[in-house]
Amino acid sequence: MNPLPKEVFYHQFGNQKRAPRPYHRRKTYLCYRLRPQDGPVTARVCLQNKKKRHAEIRFIDKIRSLQLDSSQTFGSQIFEITCYVTWSPCFTCAEELVAFVRDHPRIRLRLFASRLYFHWLGKYQEGLRLLHASGIPVTIMNIPEFENCWWEFVDNRGEPFQPWNKLETSSENINRRLQKILEVRSCPRCRRLAPLSPCDPSSQLQRPLVSVTPLLALYPHCPPTPFSFLPTPFPSPQQGLPLPSLSPFS
Ligand SMILES: [Zn+2]
Repeated sequence: MNPLPKEVFYHQFGNQKRAPRPYHRRKTYLCYRLRPQDGPVTARVCLQNKKKRHAEIRFIDKIRSLQLDSSQTFGSQIFEITCYVTWSPCFTCAEELVAFVRDHPRIRLRLFASRLYFHWLGKYQEGLRLLHASGIPVTIMNIPEFENCWWEFVDNRGEPFQPWNKLETSSENINRRLQKILEVRSCPRCRRLAPLSPCDPSSQLQRPLVSVTPLLALYPHCPPTPFSFLPTPFPSPQQGLPLPSLSPFS
């Protein structure tokens, strides 16, 4: 692996709202670590976007070429892949990652992102929800993740990672934004996006799981008609997403 130069890491992975001097555009870098479950790391690779080929797609190409799903070579071995990305994936890459993991049931993939890409646009938000609902956790990087990335992928010359000003505050703000995005799902009746109230396990215990007007409680913007209490097929990933499944790493 060609380790990232220190300056590239600080500039590209920095989570400040605006890129600091010299104000160069921050691009997508994807650094991944591959290891068999309970085994040593077998690969560490850093990728960048290339013309019309996003770093995530290049990552998928690389892993596919290893044929990790070949039971003849690898038996029933489980593989864990951790990616550190400067920007969260776009919708197309999110879809590709989900399809890739679906085709490779023995791969456990998780992403750590420094920043959210076009987080104010619905399509990009949908991509994040799709990843989450498909069991590919996306976590916002904070000091421990930047440090891990620093030690594993940067030509650090033995120097410790130096957090930049307000790193943790920025990370917490970005994480709050991500959680808000993940709390939204589409209404099964009108398909409009509606926020869900945060899950409170204690209140779930006290309340019956099925109430008389469950849909009204969840989607107050869309009062039910008599027919809307008929069973509705759960929305497909394109129409709306169920909320998170269990993390494969928990
Ligand atoms: Zn992309």
